[in-house]
Amino acid sequence: MQLCTIPASGFAANCYLLWDDVSRQALLVDPTASVSAVAATLRERGVTLTGILLTHGHFDHILTLDALRDAFGVPAYIHRADAEMLGDPVRNVSALLVGEQIRRRPADGLWDGGETLTLGEETLTVLSTPGHTPGSVCFRGKDFLVSGDTLFDRSIGRTDLPGGSWSVLSASLAGLCLLPGDTRVYPGHGPDTTIEEQIKANPYL
Ligand SMILES: [Zn+2]
Ligand SMILES: [Zn+2]
Repeated sequence: MQLCTIPASGFAANCYLLWDDVSRQALLVDPTASVSAVAATLRERGVTLTGILLTHGHFDHILTLDALRDAFGVPAYIHRADAEMLGDPVRNVSALLVGEQIRRRPADGLWDGGETLTLGEETLTVLSTPGHTPGSVCFRGKDFLVSGDTLFDRSIGRTDLPGGSWSVLSASLAGLCLLPGDTRVYPGHGPDTTIEEQIKANPYL
């Protein structure tokens, strides 16, 4: 499976495109890049978008969710526990953090955690990793992890926002530390890293 970042602006979270070289099918994680930037990347890579995956429901991860669904006609998925955040500016913390009322339409499908997503001949597992939000998830591929706001390079997601819990996040992080050390980690903010590097250098693990 291949992965690239599609640039987005300002406070927006990292927007990743994942695709399978054989089927040329692609999934987008955390819709924050513009329709034109996503269209250009799809063209450049010669792939077709089949769905949008959300790591959690905070506003900085859903900015272009509806615009991309409208442009590409694809479904979007989120963990059940974060589903209501999409339409609620208090729960998605847009009202609190940027003074805007960001509302998006409901997701087209909900996860409970543990689902296997197929992308051509490859698979991604939805890992339930609550703590930053109740419905935070990570996506695990063969040799990589897309970690949302659960794990960053040398940091972790904040737990002081509604629904956050330090003890719950700690347990989720303990689970991620059991992944193979060379697993490449693609966080919701900042640069990519590996599990091994974080076990050595992350003061929160
Ligand atoms: Zn974020
Ligand atoms: Zn967040």
